[in-house]
Amino acid sequence: RAKAQGRAKYHVFNPAMHQEAIQLLELENDLRRAVERQEFLVYYQPIVSLITGKISGFEALVRWQHPTRGLVSPTEFIPVAEETGLINAINTWVLQSACHQLSIWQHQPVTPEPLTISVNLSARLFLQPNFVEQIDRIIYETKINPTYLELEITESVIMENTNAIKIIFQQLKQRSIKLVMDDFGTGYSSLSYLHSFPLNALKIDKSFVKRMQDNKENMGLVPAMIGIANSMGMSAIAEGVETEEQLAQLRSLNCNFAQGFLFSEPIEQQLVIKLLAVAPQW
Ligand code: C2E
Ligand code: MG
Ligand code: MG
Ligand code: MG
Repeated sequence: RAKAQGRAKYHVFNPAMHQEAIQLLELENDLRRAVERQEFLVYYQPIVSLITGKISGFEALVRWQHPTRGLVSPTEFIPVAEETGLINAINTWVLQSACHQLSIWQHQPVTPEPLTISVNLSARLFLQPNFVEQIDRIIYETKINPTYLELEITESVIMENTNAIKIIFQQLKQRSIKLVMDDFGTGYSSLSYLHSFPLNALKIDKSFVKRMQDNKENMGLVPAMIGIANSMGMSAIAEGVETEEQLAQLRSLNCNFAQGFLFSEPIEQQLVIKLLAVAPQW
């Protein structure tokens, strides 16, 4: 073991790694400043009910409005934010913004049926000892009906922290908050465990939806995943739906909800009301 560490030391002086380390440090500093100056934006992507064909809600997706680099994707900065702990400040802000938006919709409805809002949660924030208190505070401050708030936790996070997660899930369920397993299919769920979590929905990862199209004869795992969700009393949400063909297939498989570029990319908040005004139906 000491030998392995000794050998690993040589890599510190690899120039490419040095360059990478500097870039990472810059990103960290930038991100710290971004948190102070609140350089983040919440984009919203519609989720469509495959029964009504109408928008049932939106997923909140964070973006970083960088002063020189423009809009930075969460896939670029969330991992660094997770490592540095900055994720808690960023994710709490997203949660607050999304709940504020939900509150506006609940007090001045823009659709015949109430809209839902889904927020992605980092394991770090979710597993903080005072997370449920924070949620209670946000509910109190924004005056939302939490029935329409959905929290998305990735499959790998749930499966790596099963006991802690179960306790928090129960507390959230008591508040009527909905729980969604995100990226389902990528994190090795134990099927015998799945029913012991009070989940409301499984969100099928876009990689599976994509493969469904690539291989027309063999639709792959998507029908099985929808079957698992529905047989356990949960909804199935397909993510990354890009084609009419995928939509038709998902409909024929009784998938409950879908989300993807076919319907709309994630859009800025001001465009949401315009999209809803058109009352699109698929
Ligand atoms: P996710 O929660 O699985 O979100 C779905 C991602 O797929 C989003 O990427 C969305 O823009 C993208 N997407 C939607 N429709 C399509 C499609 O038809 N085709 C393709 N190829 N992609 C599609 P985005 O916005 O870049 O977010 C990436 C990930 O970053 C999210 O994956 C989520 O894990 C994380 N994330 C985003 N916002 C937050 C946040 O506020 N907090 C935390 N903790 N994570 C976040
Ligand atoms: Mg998500
Ligand atoms: Mg997802
Ligand atoms: Mg995903």
